[in-house]
Amino acid sequence: MKLQFKLAAGVVVVAAAVSFAQKPKNIKPGWNLFSPAQDVQLGKEAAAEIEKQVAVVDNPQLTEYVNRIGKKLIAQPEAGQYPYTFKVVYDKSINAFALPGGPSYVHTGLILSADNEAQIAGVVAHEVAHVALRHGTSQVTKAQALQLIAGLGGAMAGGGLLGQLAQMGAGLGANSLILKFSRSAESDADLLGARMMAKAGYDPIEMAKFFEKLEAQEQSSGRSIPQFLSDHPNPGNRVKAVSAEVKLMPARQYTKGDTADLSRVKGVIGGLPVPAKANTNFRADSGGVPARPNGQMKQFSSKGLAFKYPANWEVFQNQQSSEVTIASREGIAENNGNAEIAYGAIVGLAQTRSQVNLDNDTRAFLDQMQKNNRDMKPSGEAAKRFQVSGANALLNVFFGPSAFKGQREVDAVVTVEHPQGLLYMILIAPEGEYPKAQPFFDQMIQSLQFAR
Ligand SMILES: [Zn+2]
Repeated sequence: MKLQFKLAAGVVVVAAAVSFAQKPKNIKPGWNLFSPAQDVQLGKEAAAEIEKQVAVVDNPQLTEYVNRIGKKLIAQPEAGQYPYTFKVVYDKSINAFALPGGPSYVHTGLILSADNEAQIAGVVAHEVAHVALRHGTSQVTKAQALQLIAGLGGAMAGGGLLGQLAQMGAGLGANSLILKFSRSAESDADLLGARMMAKAGYDPIEMAKFFEKLEAQEQSSGRSIPQFLSDHPNPGNRVKAVSAEVKLMPARQYTKGDTADLSRVKGVIGGLPVPAKANTNFRADSGGVPARPNGQMKQFSSKGLAFKYPANWEVFQNQQSSEVTIASREGIAENNGNAEIAYGAIVGLAQTRSQVNLDNDTRAFLDQMQKNNRDMKPSGEAAKRFQVSGANALLNVFFGPSAFKGQREVDAVVTVEHPQGLLYMILIAPEGEYPKAQPFFDQMIQSLQFAR
């Protein structure tokens, strides 16, 4: 009896699931206080800013190739009416991004890693879907509604929408709301993008296959996340969801694109000169990074505190505090007029209310640091205890988005029991650079000296 009952219930559940899955999801833009015209304006301003930082490839064959793919996609009703543009960025990381209102960029690394044109089309369709669904400005709306209601009209009148958003902390910096999306936005962009590419004639299952490939890369390389997955986080069961969406589409003939054409384009990329441009992601893995320690060390000494630091780095005194930033000029990225350190060190003394308690004060310091850098996450490794200059010290490691756009960064935070407070030394490098930086960081830590 019991068994029969269970079976019957199971059948009902399965039937319900099937009827639910057969109906395609209605995907609509979310709440948005911006007008579509403001999306376009913001995108133009952001594109001008970003193109100063990344290396846009000026090659007619590549431009033609991505534009041909892009035009097929934006001819579909899902893309809406935006002035889309498609450009190639010289960058080894597997990524693509789009700005509100249409400016879209495909990294050379993404083209090189694609098995066929349909996979590139899948990623571009995903980006176009973000634009059409206005995810960037919708995210800013949700995060900054009150300030927007107070200020948007004025921003429009005076131009400089991006500048206004930057003042609210919603500009183009690391973890930009405009460039990094929520998981539900990702899932909608996947589905709408898959529909768009299918209507354009591309085999939509190739989108799922490309995501599958990125996920496999992530698993095989351990901690290193393909850039696309870091900016476009997996909403969960991404491959399954796209595959299920594809099953709902009417059967038809699809193309994966021309193989010879893609090989030719890959050859063109292989022959491109490596561009020299400041503060771009490709720089960190192109060798000879100016931000990297050059081998020599020199001595820092001030107010009873001394340590060694890389000789090609400079000391910058922070205006509002006793903190110093030590980095090369190339290690400091400028995002919207704000200086952000991508490769270097920050050293300072945090005041404590009473005698230093290394564990408690470190915890309070790290909490504050995470409040100021919302996307910094602990590495999960236990804090390491050691001694410097005869004092107790702790090492905690964090990960976060790098100010070198599109990369992950490692932040090694050393805290030391100092007679006047909690001495801290934060050592920062893009993840890909970290193995090269670590010996120098170790020397900086080991050389710490202070009067007791
Ligand atoms: Zn996305």
